[in-house]
Amino acid sequence: MSRYWSDIVQHLTPYVPGEQPPLVNPVKLNANENPYPPSPRVVEAIRRELGDSGETLRLYPDSTARKLRETVAAHHGISADQVFVGNGSDEVLAHAFQALLKHDTPILFPDITYSFYPTYARLYDVAYQTVPVDEAFAIRVDDYLGPNGGVLIANPNAPTGRALPLSEIERLVAGNPESVVVVDEAYVDFGAQSAVSLIAKYANLLIVQTVSKARSLAGMRVGLAFGDATLIDALNRVKDSFNSYPLDRLAQAAAQAAYEDDAWFRASCAKVIASRERLSAGLAELGFGVVPSATNFVLATHPAHDAGQLATRLREREIFVRHFKLPRIDAYLRITVGTDAQCDALLDALRTYVG
Ligand SMILES: *Cc1c(COP(=O)(O)O)cnc(C)c1O
Repeated sequence: MSRYWSDIVQHLTPYVPGEQPPLVNPVKLNANENPYPPSPRVVEAIRRELGDSGETLRLYPDSTARKLRETVAAHHGISADQVFVGNGSDEVLAHAFQALLKHDTPILFPDITYSFYPTYARLYDVAYQTVPVDEAFAIRVDDYLGPNGGVLIANPNAPTGRALPLSEIERLVAGNPESVVVVDEAYVDFGAQSAVSLIAKYANLLIVQTVSKARSLAGMRVGLAFGDATLIDALNRVKDSFNSYPLDRLAQAAAQAAYEDDAWFRASCAKVIASRERLSAGLAELGFGVVPSATNFVLATHPAHDAGQLATRLREREIFVRHFKLPRIDAYLRITVGTDAQCDALLDALRTYVG
């Protein structure tokens, strides 16, 4: 605290990201990063953009990221004016709060979800109500069909890992013609259906995606949104009132190359999905209850062991998982799917505590 702080800063509760331990080779299963590297074409594209002397770095990047947006639009069969890009999907979400979700009526989002949502709501002074997920952690669409200033869900949801089918997303969007429905698809490529096909039909649907998870580019900070051109225009108006150049040259080139190598992306997702099923089975064998996951992480609880203590014991072995001290999920660990070797290191360690 300082007397120089603004009122808003004095009352903020910032989001706390997963720890980045300064260790040489930690088993890092706490931030849902991809255990596999991005496509080799990404590295080539960055080198090409940089050139021998770094000459290009003198110049500002394309503020509209036109080539990247065109590549992504072609990938999804939509047009470039239906694509917005930002500095990570966290920034895209932040702009959506200001541009599309700040109205007189409170917005709705689940009680268990990405903890950045309440953080942004407080930062931008957006009124919100949380809606409980059911006992099995599923989002019930019927609970979101009353009056609201907007709806925000993650599909698949985090940190539960549970997904809604496309038909349920359509029911949610069709049932809210008066407000914007934002669907955060950060994990969609690991086992859920994207709602991108619905944006042509519904002018109130905004889909948010990221290259951080399935495309292994968390370090480049590129997030995207897809929706009707009027929604994208609103995001651009906020962006151009805040930072015209959110994506640097290297990030634009890297993300574009990642979208151009679809085979690499799909192979990497398939490996993660196979490891997720193997990890889930291994945890179940040790007596954990595992929530069925459509993501690159699992949420697991042990009936006889305190989740916070397990996370601390694992940390002593340089194995990092996430424990949220939050209502309804404080008995759970959120474990990112690593390589099979990393998952085995985790299971071996857990076996000595719970076995
Ligand atoms: C990881 C994550 C994001 C943020 O991704 P960035 O693009 O890296 O900012 C957004 N939403 C959810 C639900 C996530 O888990």
